[in-house]
Amino acid sequence: MKGRWDGGWLRRARRCPSPNFNERPAGTAVRLALIHSISLPPGQYGGDGVERLFTNRLDWDAHPYFQTIRGLEVSAHFMVRRDGELVQFVSCDARAWHAGASVWHDQPGCNDYSIGIELEGLEGETFDAPQYEVLVGLVSDLRTRYPIEGAVGHEHVAAGRKRDPGPGFDWARFGARLGWIEDPAGGGLMPRSAAL
Ligand SMILES: [Zn+2]
Repeated sequence: MKGRWDGGWLRRARRCPSPNFNERPAGTAVRLALIHSISLPPGQYGGDGVERLFTNRLDWDAHPYFQTIRGLEVSAHFMVRRDGELVQFVSCDARAWHAGASVWHDQPGCNDYSIGIELEGLEGETFDAPQYEVLVGLVSDLRTRYPIEGAVGHEHVAAGRKRDPGPGFDWARFGARLGWIEDPAGGGLMPRSAAL
């Protein structure tokens, strides 16, 4: 039987390879699931704007909002669409470009040691049930390959600069499904075992 992973690629995810990545620093343990929200244009779901942005194929002139992010070269490892479709852009063994200046548990540069997961959505809006389901499964799959010690929002690691996934993301619901508890130090969730 084939395993769930093909190197750093999750077999069940649809692949949409992004050129926006580089190597993680040698010997870095991948310890964190970092959750974002995104939609392009903001609040419009179902289109291909995010996939185009992450693959440097977005037409900057196609929408006024795109002018404000013109030239941006970013990526995440995964995106979970509203219907639960899972898309992967970057191998989890590589460093995707999603967190920017950030700190978690006193360790700066979250891109070095995290998996970036975008939820198709908008800060302040809620997320759909399939997204929680897929997110829980994804974190479980990640833990079969990486020593994940926590899950946080971009808002937790870049406080004052970023606000996603925002108040519409239900951390209690996510934690309950995952069997994880609140992490007072990191602002997100951590496995129960880590609290002992
Ligand atoms: Zn973000």
